[in-house]
Amino acid sequence: DGVLLSELPRPCRMMLLVNPQSGKGQALILYNNHIQRMLNEAGVIHTLVITERQNHAREMVKEADLSQWDALVIMSGDGLLYEVINGLLERSDWEEAIRTPLGILPGGSGNALAASVHHYSGASPVSSEELLVSCGFLLCKGLVSRMDLVSIHLSSSPRLFSFLSLAWGFVADVDIESEKYRHVGAARFTVGTLVRLASLRVYKGKLAYLPATKQHNNQEGLRNNTTGHCNNQASSLTPAPVLCRPSRDSSCNNTFHNSCHSNNSLKVRRSESTPSRSATKAPAGPPDSLLVPLDQPLPANWVVVPEEDFVLMLAMYQSHLAEDLLAAPDAALNDGVIHLFYVRAGISRTALLRLFLAMEKGAHLATNCQHLVHTKVRALRLEPYSPKGIITVDGEVVEYGPLQAEVHGGLSRLITG
Ligand code: ADP
Ligand code: MG
Repeated sequence: DGVLLSELPRPCRMMLLVNPQSGKGQALILYNNHIQRMLNEAGVIHTLVITERQNHAREMVKEADLSQWDALVIMSGDGLLYEVINGLLERSDWEEAIRTPLGILPGGSGNALAASVHHYSGASPVSSEELLVSCGFLLCKGLVSRMDLVSIHLSSSPRLFSFLSLAWGFVADVDIESEKYRHVGAARFTVGTLVRLASLRVYKGKLAYLPATKQHNNQEGLRNNTTGHCNNQASSLTPAPVLCRPSRDSSCNNTFHNSCHSNNSLKVRRSESTPSRSATKAPAGPPDSLLVPLDQPLPANWVVVPEEDFVLMLAMYQSHLAEDLLAAPDAALNDGVIHLFYVRAGISRTALLRLFLAMEKGAHLATNCQHLVHTKVRALRLEPYSPKGIITVDGEVVEYGPLQAEVHGGLSRLITG
């Protein structure tokens, strides 16, 4: 599905951004030991750029003369690529800039995209330095594919773009709490999962989504409001979207009704009942044609999840959540779909642990766990009820509160070999 687009030119001019602090702090050593010679032999002229601090890469790609580069390659965890993608989409020439081929070499502790690229190549699972060598070879082959991105609106921060995941609840908490186990590398997620299991809790909120169906693409889904099909078990039981329900917790100010939507979000006149393409254009990046502002009722063809008690919500657009977590086995680089998973409250610790163990081989969906729901969507909205908590985008913490997201199929380019 990662429709092959082109091949990198030879010789190829690559900017290689290395975060020396990523993972166990050995990215530069890994570069010297495994990557430098490989790239030279493949005729890849690369300029090493060592990042000095958070947002350094983001600022650099925002200002860079992109005509100098055939590719921007990240050697770090997923966090550095997240910066680069957002930097590219903040440019006034974003439409051109986001077509720059990107590459990923696993140098961090969260190397989910690298693991996904390796998985898409059809090779059997590997980890650590073997994964690095595999990704090095794929990079040298230089074949470029399209990659989906997801735009995410938070209540008051500017819109941001995501290439991997959006998490709330158990997974988000583990991701952030496990930062302190960074020195153990990719095993930090296993350690974090075990620690979090001991203090397993319920997360309350409202989740809604626009189902992805074969019948409609991004635009048709909007025009054809009454025929929005639902292809999951939950949706057939779902009542019409609850549009104006007061918050359960009076101390909570995170409801959709009173949330103040992002300055960057598309403004749709209040009298309009469906989203409109004529909405004011956001400063950079493509418009979100499926979303209405966060403080407005959901479009009629959206599905509201009946449960409001969750253990986790995880939206994935690539196969791997971590090197050894095949969370979305049927996800492809460019399928134009968000793979939405949620786990309902009531699951036992043992059952949840079993799910994560099965996820190493992508077998969690086959365990027939009654608490796990998987559905494919094009857009989603989440309204957490608790005033505090953690939400992560591509493994990075973002503003906590109501949010919504929409997939943009094939918006970026990735070197997949
Ligand atoms: P890891 O998987 O180990 O977390 P990431 O690529 O996710 O690796 O990087 C973690 C964070 O480190 C990112 O938010 C990035 O902005 C930041 N960063 C980049 N360069 C540096 C640096 N020189 N020192 C500290 N942090 C940095
Ligand atoms: Mg990270």
